[in-house]
Amino acid sequence: MNAPETSPDNPLLGDWHGRFGLPPFAAVKHDHFRPAFDRALAAHRAEIEAVAASKMAPSFDNTIAALERGGCDLDRVSNLFSVLAGADTGDALEAVEREVSPLLARHSNALYLNRALFARIDDLWRRRDSLRLSAEQARVIERYHTRFVRAGAALDQPAQDRLAAINERLASLGTQFGQNVLADEKAYALVLEEGDLAGLPEFARANARAAAEERGHRGKFAVTLGRSAVESFLQFSSRRDLREKLFQAWIRRGEGGGATDNRAIVAEIVGLRAERAKLLGFPSFADYRLDDLMAKSPANARHLLEDVWTRAQAQAERDALQALVAEEGGNFALAPWDWRYYAEKLRKARYDLDEAEIKPYLQLDRMIEAAFETARRLFGLSFTPANVPLYHPDARAWEVTDASGRHVGLFIGDYFARTSKHSGAWMTSLRDQEKLMGDIHPVILNICNFAKPAAGEPALLSFEDARTLFHEFGHALHGLLSDVTYPLLAGTAVPSDFVELPSQLYEHWLETPEILQKYARNASTGKAMPQTLIDKVLATRTFNQGFATVEFTACALVDLDIHSLPAGKALDVTEFERRDLERIHMPAEIVMRHRLPHFQHLFAGGGYAAGYYSYMWSEVLDADAFEAFKETGDVFDPATAKRLRDFIYSAGNLRDPAEAYKAFRGRLPTADALLKKRGLDAVVV
Ligand SMILES: [Zn+2]
Repeated sequence: MNAPETSPDNPLLGDWHGRFGLPPFAAVKHDHFRPAFDRALAAHRAEIEAVAASKMAPSFDNTIAALERGGCDLDRVSNLFSVLAGADTGDALEAVEREVSPLLARHSNALYLNRALFARIDDLWRRRDSLRLSAEQARVIERYHTRFVRAGAALDQPAQDRLAAINERLASLGTQFGQNVLADEKAYALVLEEGDLAGLPEFARANARAAAEERGHRGKFAVTLGRSAVESFLQFSSRRDLREKLFQAWIRRGEGGGATDNRAIVAEIVGLRAERAKLLGFPSFADYRLDDLMAKSPANARHLLEDVWTRAQAQAERDALQALVAEEGGNFALAPWDWRYYAEKLRKARYDLDEAEIKPYLQLDRMIEAAFETARRLFGLSFTPANVPLYHPDARAWEVTDASGRHVGLFIGDYFARTSKHSGAWMTSLRDQEKLMGDIHPVILNICNFAKPAAGEPALLSFEDARTLFHEFGHALHGLLSDVTYPLLAGTAVPSDFVELPSQLYEHWLETPEILQKYARNASTGKAMPQTLIDKVLATRTFNQGFATVEFTACALVDLDIHSLPAGKALDVTEFERRDLERIHMPAEIVMRHRLPHFQHLFAGGGYAAGYYSYMWSEVLDADAFEAFKETGDVFDPATAKRLRDFIYSAGNLRDPAEAYKAFRGRLPTADALLKKRGLDAVVV
């Protein structure tokens, strides 16, 4: 790198004086990142070395707390970098990302494979009962010890060397995987003329017009590969040929041959993960991964998935759709690109409800208010627009305060799709809550990919989009309400099969009459959504659930299966996916929600690897948890809300998840509420 190592003109390196601790976004350029990373990494390395080499006998403060205090600059720079690399990236930032991801992996190796450091942690852990620790400190020690052991700190040198090499390679592969998916999405648009839009409602036309304009096709229409855009088109376009064309492009992301093909990358990632698990003494990566999660073993996760899988009634749905095709005089077998189109028709016929009728009532701004109002009624929070400079004109900020007016944190919402943004929806942070180095308040973001309306038009959401908004906002509250001392335990730093509880639970309030009646208002008339329409929306909740259940559960099973492969096996990804789907009898008319070559949860970083089941695991928890409110007769019951806040939303990783849940609910969850919610409870298996 020729950039100067330290520089007074590098805004990342000085103190950030922005309100709420925000970075000086406008001054930050992509070439500031590499030198900032270099310096922050070196500083953290020195801090780690100082702890490891200390001549003092290990104590909680000089070892664990010292580690917790370290790495501030690195956290700051990496948080900002990951926000921008996800939400506002480009060639230059992508190049930095490819350069930096192996450096970060190497750095994490230097921490977790440091023998002298582990010896101190191990010593403290063995003496933990005599150290007079608070409950939180005891949890922190336990987490440090487990993390180090699981990272390989107790292995011999050759095994550690190999682990280090594997980790670095995995980091590069993960970055490449995500960038390839984005590249395939950017490269594609189905460009259409006015005459190709048959069946599309006004909002979809307007979105396609805006997307074409963004891509330089003025006066035309374009459908891009973002989920909202694709799903709307598949739902409404009566042009079977165009539906097929778009669908094929969508499900072949990462599989197109050439430089952005992800299949070899998937095979290598899976092989390296299996090898790492073996080095650490586990029969497979799935065994390794789940050992430290709430599910504890792949068998437990599989048990839930298979129970749901056998109950999923996609066959009956398929038959009904095929009958509709025949009724219309169609002489073809229902194909995957037909499912959403005929399901939408059937929904309209059965419930007299069409998505285009709902959409004018679901304005983005009102739904944001609805999510805020829910937080006010449950937790006493208020949200005030904050006029602070951000990284993109579409991003907006609100200051969050509690019932007594005290500052809680800053919430940033960045809702619209654009070519510089990765697909999907997620919560992330620029700063996490903690009390070790002062009273530090969180800065939390929600990034979504809702279709952006043309200038002057209101942004309208589908019901699914509104659900996504509530989902991500549930994650955001998990970060905002966090109330712990040690950074390690803050907010969403919980096991990945527990982390979806706060988000999925929050979705339930969207469907309550209290929220829908007040916030679902027609964009042009301002009138509330009529009760008959609300009733219809709610009545369709279990409609097409067979499809949704199959689409999801197939992904979760394939994920567990591919990560249960033993080390050292050659893997043909296409063939594996095909065979595994055949094994579980995947219906031919349904395609996995995320196919392996673009399954970012699993391969763009390892967040959900062998963990996609988590969504359903958490659904058991969220369905059961919402029952706790319903049982009181008040979906905002204050006493239940207080327990929810104390033991779930503000508790970070203070407790083992099963204990945390029991503290909230008084017992462990059962799957009954989940089966009822999906309409699968009546199915005898
Ligand atoms: Zn989530």
